[in-house]
Amino acid sequence: MTGKLYVVATPIGNLEDITMRGVRILRECSIIACEDTRQTHKLLEHFGITTPAVSYHEHNEAARAAELVGKMEEGSSIALVSDAGTPLISDPGYRLVRAAIDAGITVVPIPGPSASLGALSASGLPSDAFRFCGFLPPKSSQRRRALEEVRADAATLIFYESPHRIVDALEDIAAVMGSRPVVIARELTKLHEEFLRGTASQIRETLAARPSIKGEFTVLIGKMPDRKPGDAPESNESSDTPVLSLKDAVKAAEKEGLSHMDAIKRVAKERGLGKRDVYREVDGG
Ligand code: SAM
Repeated sequence: MTGKLYVVATPIGNLEDITMRGVRILRECSIIACEDTRQTHKLLEHFGITTPAVSYHEHNEAARAAELVGKMEEGSSIALVSDAGTPLISDPGYRLVRAAIDAGITVVPIPGPSASLGALSASGLPSDAFRFCGFLPPKSSQRRRALEEVRADAATLIFYESPHRIVDALEDIAAVMGSRPVVIARELTKLHEEFLRGTASQIRETLAARPSIKGEFTVLIGKMPDRKPGDAPESNESSDTPVLSLKDAVKAAEKEGLSHMDAIKRVAKERGLGKRDVYREVDGG
């Protein structure tokens, strides 16, 4: 009989955060495919699980996926885990899940922690609609472009960010998102769990003042407030908040008397974007 593929969520810090079913599947399956065998061994050791583990990471995904599908076709059941949280959520696994489905193998989710949903659930930001955006690009210009792309989304935005980029990322978030509410969830489920709430500039200031910035960060941005023309800025929002889309910002600059190209240049400079990016967005060029 063909084996199954179990996609098992594992803790994001606190080892108690794995389901009883997750532990049982890890114990009963034939093979555990993990991102980093050393990392997963800590978890397996904690629960006294002796199932053999093989590595499955972004550099061997394609070859390993074919090999693992072959094993499931021969009857082995495989549990896929990542270093922490839910596999495939900014973690490897997509190719294996896809290959298993294409081969007619049953794929079973074993749900559990994900930093994204943990952060959202305690953020205090609207949770009726949210968009998970993964990691922001490392370069500021690309980061601002990525933020521009999701800026008008009527949903809470969720990003992952590394400790050494968080301050720069908050600067770009402030430039693109103005004073929309931001929540930083740091070290979820761990000893130094912390939530910082405010505008991107306020949180940036708080973090920049610390002697060192450590830990794992999830960033949430509240959706764009619903505004009618003529509405006064919200109490925590300065009047120079960039609330216009790129197109509207260019139009506004043209109304001030600038030529179309000069308006594009000015908006690009103000938003920290390349001229071509603004041109492409505004004129579809
Ligand atoms: N698959 C994982 C999940 O479901 O959450 C995410 C893996 S991704 C490679 C790792 C990123 O998730 C970190 O850089 C950080 O942004 C976020 N993250 C992971 N653990 C976290 C924690 N305990 N607290 C806050 N953010 C966390």
